[in-house]
Amino acid sequence: MQVVILGSGSPIPAPDRAGPSTLVRTSVGDLLFDAGRGVSMRAAGALSSPGAFQAVFLTHLHSDHVTDLNDLITTRWAMSLAPNPLTVYGPVGTVALVAATEAMLETDIGYRLAHHEDLTWRPATVATDVAAGVVFEQGDVRVTAGPTDHAPVHPTVGYRIDDGDASVVIAGDTVPCDGLDRLCDGADVLVHTVIRRDQIEALGLPRLLDVLDYHSSVPDAARTAARTGVGTLVLTHMVPPVQPGTEHEWIDQAQSEFGGTVVLSEDLTAVEVTPTVQ
Ligand SMILES: [Zn+2]
Repeated sequence: MQVVILGSGSPIPAPDRAGPSTLVRTSVGDLLFDAGRGVSMRAAGALSSPGAFQAVFLTHLHSDHVTDLNDLITTRWAMSLAPNPLTVYGPVGTVALVAATEAMLETDIGYRLAHHEDLTWRPATVATDVAAGVVFEQGDVRVTAGPTDHAPVHPTVGYRIDDGDASVVIAGDTVPCDGLDRLCDGADVLVHTVIRRDQIEALGLPRLLDVLDYHSSVPDAARTAARTGVGTLVLTHMVPPVQPGTEHEWIDQAQSEFGGTVVLSEDLTAVEVTPTVQ
């Protein structure tokens, strides 16, 4: 199994970081987690595409994690040579979001159906609201959802992907919590969104200070990894954006709490997921 960080950015636009999205390449194909800004571009960079995703999993419905879901739906539909329904899992609200997104696309759907003679089917998205437990099972691959804590955004979920003996957890946005700890138990890789509490407090901007109470700081994420026996911690969705030359600060803050491998991701950073020797 392999994890590719498609977008390592956050809501703050950045020239070289797409919005939050992570590709997990499994023995049954590509699974996508979140669909942030530029996800289709970065999927192309990883030699994948919306048409190839076995399923899309949303951690929560904050705009930065779902803003390009409409692009996935359109691109998969318009570029497939036969009906190719898109499967989407996410917290309660996902079914409604998908329905509203398809409604938003109605004008374009009409244009393309009228123009392309061989395109005789509408986009089809099979959406399911999930909370906890196994949500996807195929071959050796099992995806388990679990509740996270991003209050007041509720509900939110994280996912654990097991492929044979290898495992990876996609935390999404959350503060440390029991639900995430249960998903992480003994996982080989943890992909965790993080913020820099010290930098945000120094900046002192009220709108930015608001994010402190519902995200994990770098040490928070590292303590979750240490507490649950994770092998490799991958940091993503860095807020504020990583300033060139300060990468070591992010790594140092994580390593002060966690003795495993720490990866500060960029877009298209790939991490092999192999069973960790404990
Ligand atoms: Zn969020």
